[in-house]
Amino acid sequence: MTKTIALLGSTGSIGRQTLQVARELKLRVAALAAGSSVELLEAQAREFSPRLAVLYDKDAAAELRQRLRDTDIEVLAGPEGLLAAAQAEEADTVVTAVVGSVGLEPTLAAIRLGRRIALANKETLVCAGELVMAAARECGADIVPVDSEHSAIFQCLQGCADRREIKRLILTCSGGPFFGKRYEELEHMTPADALKHPNWSMGAKITIDSATLMNKGLEVIEAMRLYDLPLLKVEAVIHRQSVVHSLVEFVDGAVLAQLGVPDMRIPIGLAMTYPNRAHNPAPALDLLTCGPLTFDAIDETAFPCFALAKQAAQLGGTACTALNAANEEAVGLFLQDKIGFYDIADAVEAALRLPVVLMFLWKNLGFCLIIFLAALQSIPQPLYEYAQLEGAGFFTRAFRITLPMITPTAFLVFVLAWINAFKIFKEVYFIAGAYPDYSVYTLQNYMNNMFGKLNYQLVTAAAYSFGLIVFALFGALFFLQRRAARGLN
Ligand code: MG
Repeated sequence: MTKTIALLGSTGSIGRQTLQVARELKLRVAALAAGSSVELLEAQAREFSPRLAVLYDKDAAAELRQRLRDTDIEVLAGPEGLLAAAQAEEADTVVTAVVGSVGLEPTLAAIRLGRRIALANKETLVCAGELVMAAARECGADIVPVDSEHSAIFQCLQGCADRREIKRLILTCSGGPFFGKRYEELEHMTPADALKHPNWSMGAKITIDSATLMNKGLEVIEAMRLYDLPLLKVEAVIHRQSVVHSLVEFVDGAVLAQLGVPDMRIPIGLAMTYPNRAHNPAPALDLLTCGPLTFDAIDETAFPCFALAKQAAQLGGTACTALNAANEEAVGLFLQDKIGFYDIADAVEAALRLPVVLMFLWKNLGFCLIIFLAALQSIPQPLYEYAQLEGAGFFTRAFRITLPMITPTAFLVFVLAWINAFKIFKEVYFIAGAYPDYSVYTLQNYMNNMFGKLNYQLVTAAAYSFGLIVFALFGALFFLQRRAARGLN
């Protein structure tokens, strides 16, 4: 049970609601940190009298220091300030409600001090989930999710000691303001259209993420990290009413759900009082008036960001970080009206390409090396002499040298394709064996996904080989030119 909090991101939507809960639960506040809202932070500091108040923006912090000079509240600025707030020694719980990857370092610092983390900053887990969860395990820090879906899953999993009993997590998704719209209709959407969220009142960045469904994609990654589950076991469905906050299906077929009004004060309150519960200022859920509850599939054509996030999750490694960074930048530009709605997905896709290529090269490092050696091997002396055609031009000779390389390269691409195909078949076979109750649909989906990957690898291997051939061609030209210059030809 929390007694004193440090609140990072106190002037944002989650931060303000956290302070409402703190008022209700009579929690002390050790530190308040925000971006640049001088007036609001001053008001909050005067009400909750923390020891430390932080504004990330240095000029704003200077102004706040001026305004709070009649109090003994210390005012700090910048990343150092944020870090100091996260490490405030009086706090037993650190609420991380800052927006974006700036939340990572302070969260890690608080974890290392063994503080409970009320985690509202999903970017932290998306960018560095493995790192954060490992640190939490090592330092014995509890991570209690504040995100409504993950709080729901957290609650449904109480009493589940063995993770293997989980068949899948089902995240619910309100569908955002553009639910049911098609690609053509969405092309010309503006930030103003996107900012009209039907159920939740949230900050601008997350509201745009909800409109593109990137938010749900990030939440899929967040759930994978929090509960250490593969992508295959985390799904999302559209649920327009935001009454069912998420569900867990167990291997015995039981499905548990957590319901409530869409009010963030409930998950925030639980993160404070866990493992207990306390009265909450949020209104009660009235089943008789909340209307029918509906569920729909996500349209990945109209909302490509969701599929891109899953792609990044499948790739792992730095792909999720690249996804998140590109999304943060693109959403910022969209909010300034500088780019269009689908430019966000395009920017993210472009950013994912580099990790995809790196991942491919890394996974096929041995193979790439073989191709490279084969390329070198295929310019032996006899071939070179063969290219010394009487009266032949420069390009003809170079081509003659390069030509014999194509056969071994093509052969190696073929071998690579089969090695990969074998790996994929083995994986599918393993999944089918490990999860005999897995629905045929899910398995089919998985296989489609894997075959998509296989095709991709073939194309990349072909492109890579082509690149090597061109590279070798230029090498051969250079070689011939040097010889000619030395008068050997
Ligand atoms: Mg959420």
